[in-house]
Amino acid sequence: MEKVKILETCAVCGKPRRVIANFLGNEREFKVLCDCEEKEKAEQERTEELIQRRHQAQYNRSVAFSDSRFKDYTFLHDDGLQPRLSQALRRFCDNFERYKNRGKGLFLWGSPASGKTFLAGCVLNELIDRGYKCLATSLPTILAQSFDTKEKENFLRRFVDYDLILIDDFGTERTTESALETIFAFFDMLNMHKKTLIVTSNLSVSTVFTEQYKDVRLGRIYSRLSECLFPIEVNGVSHRYKEAKDTYLSMKEELGL
Ligand SMILES: [Zn+2]
Repeated sequence: MEKVKILETCAVCGKPRRVIANFLGNEREFKVLCDCEEKEKAEQERTEELIQRRHQAQYNRSVAFSDSRFKDYTFLHDDGLQPRLSQALRRFCDNFERYKNRGKGLFLWGSPASGKTFLAGCVLNELIDRGYKCLATSLPTILAQSFDTKEKENFLRRFVDYDLILIDDFGTERTTESALETIFAFFDMLNMHKKTLIVTSNLSVSTVFTEQYKDVRLGRIYSRLSECLFPIEVNGVSHRYKEAKDTYLSMKEELGL
């Protein structure tokens, strides 16, 4: 053991702060961190990491949502009218790592404007805050882009980078032969990579998850989805209606009517 001469100790924790020790045959003075300084350094690193993580989340959010409305779709803005549903979706976030590894996602279905997109947005925002990479998109968006792309396969492969992909409003897209082919290729690729999806749809669970398909091509797509999605019915008070009603009430008040 080298002999170390202590020059200065910390008045608070009593540990050395400056020492003289042998370095390659010469006596040299060294600065060492006392317990207080170690603690301070660790705290600083934690703060920097937190800031770094917040910046990353901010960036990931800007990538995830091309529609800025999504930024307000958070559990904080949840009106709590469907407590069991909100609770279930929070649990989905809490256990996301497990669902991600198994490629298991959610099929949120219900009547138009029942809050499906809002709730899906809550999940995405929550997961983005937790450091995951998400993307909110729709099949019309994918179809519009992939037809511009010569290398369709390369285009589709870009989606593999995300931890979670939201396909909003499934079932409203074109069902031409080539559209269905692209859609099937898209889901097939995601399925192959065990990607976790959230699909929102006005189509009922019995339409998508049934074994009896009228259309063979649609049936192939539906059966891919039913393999990896857990269906949840969203039957809440319309968020859009509530927004409209709130606007109506606040305008009524402003106008003094
Ligand atoms: Zn100290």
